[in-house]
Amino acid sequence: MMNKPIVREKVIMEYHGEEHAASMKNTAVSGIPAPYLRGDIEGMPDVSEPDVVRHFTRLSYMNHSLDSGMYPLGSCTMKYNPKVMEKAAQYEGFSLLHPLTPQPMTQGILKLLYNTEQYLKAVTGMDSFSLQLAAGAHGELAGMLIAAKYHRVNKTNKHTIIIPDTAHGTNPASAAMAGFKVVNIPSGSHGMIEADMIKPFINDDVAGIMLTIPNTLGIFEAQILEIAKLIHDAGGLVYVDGANFNALLGKVRYSDIGVDIIHLNLHKTFATPHGSGGPGAGVIGVASRLKEFLPSPVVEKKEQDFILNYDIKNTIGRMVSFYGNIGIIIRAYTYMRMLGIEGARQVSEFATLNANYIRSMLKGYYNLPYSTQTLHEVVFNDAYQNQTGVKTLDIAKRVIDYGFHPPTIYFPLIVHGAIMIEPTETESKDEIDRFISAMKSIAEESKTDPGLVIDAPHTTPVKRVDEVKAARDPRLVYKKPV
Ligand SMILES: *Cc1c(COP(=O)(O)O)cnc(C)c1O
Repeated sequence: MMNKPIVREKVIMEYHGEEHAASMKNTAVSGIPAPYLRGDIEGMPDVSEPDVVRHFTRLSYMNHSLDSGMYPLGSCTMKYNPKVMEKAAQYEGFSLLHPLTPQPMTQGILKLLYNTEQYLKAVTGMDSFSLQLAAGAHGELAGMLIAAKYHRVNKTNKHTIIIPDTAHGTNPASAAMAGFKVVNIPSGSHGMIEADMIKPFINDDVAGIMLTIPNTLGIFEAQILEIAKLIHDAGGLVYVDGANFNALLGKVRYSDIGVDIIHLNLHKTFATPHGSGGPGAGVIGVASRLKEFLPSPVVEKKEQDFILNYDIKNTIGRMVSFYGNIGIIIRAYTYMRMLGIEGARQVSEFATLNANYIRSMLKGYYNLPYSTQTLHEVVFNDAYQNQTGVKTLDIAKRVIDYGFHPPTIYFPLIVHGAIMIEPTETESKDEIDRFISAMKSIAEESKTDPGLVIDAPHTTPVKRVDEVKAARDPRLVYKKPV
């Protein structure tokens, strides 16, 4: 190792030339050229290790986490993930694997990717998968690019995607980014799309439809078969956002309901909670006629070997620099292996049972804007509480005082003052009962002492923060407090 700096200088000379080598002469061994190294930071605190550890530990206590309590954030599926998933993802054979390692030495991870795909094919019925995509919205973009290329190659000259208002907000954005014209259509009074409502929008330009199933109200699109037929007869493709597949796992195969392209969020459905925009895996599955458009490379099995095949006829190209967020896929695979197909069925059964238990226990305390049967989540609103001036935001803040993370609020957009609760399949009845009793107390307080709710939270280190300011006016430069 003693001659390492000399070797490095040779590499810089050989690959970058003399001028760059000269500019690199005085750089630290870290490899950062001198002009990019920062000098002293004025006012940088000078503290000992225990001070730093205590500071950050204190901060961590101020945060709510799944390890400290229920996190009923609708759509985000903040379920408990067994610690064994972390252990699997941290095996050195995975965590230290360099992405440029030659394929004969990466058979283990390639086999894991291949097996993950086989499992996904079995539970969704789709023909082929790509695991590359780094998030749900990224999967949507890939799916829409596939739709665009499919229509281009087949010279159909179709450029419109129909999207109902019950679709996730990322759907129209993804379709627009892939170059489509987006036509938004309203859902019916039952929170569903009816085939008759689509008919007026069908024309020669319709390239497909993007539906979220279950939709953002937690409702299954009961007329999906008729809708898919209408779209297919018009030469279009059916894209389904299956981010919340934990509601249908082991119960519904997307291939059976006429779906051509889906994305699943392995985070949310299998393991790894979703939230704070953390890493994800928005894998996509396609029907056989769309296989030739998948992102490159795909994992294949050739005799006894697992290989990465870059030779895909009409590929939309690479969507990530390597193979995706491998750590998330390892966690999901571990979850799949732990559950098997039978266990997967129980995931959707418990997710649905828990949400419907909350729904029936809180009915009468909170307004239910839609009476249609829901699956893994339930959407209430603040209509009853409005009578004393209490709003959804106040209820959410008061939930914190009872030791829970607030539910998702003001989403989906089609419900005014929405309170969207997703208990997930991993909460015990005791914990769910505690949550229900907190929500009932808040409903009672809203009548008897509305000021208490409007002024919440009362138990947190900070009260209400200006959430908009944090995004619009970030303070990125350290300034010494005066
Ligand atoms: C979470 C979610 C998405 C987006 O997934 P990301 O991983 O956040 O990009 C898309 N659609 C639905 C229905 C979702 O719940």
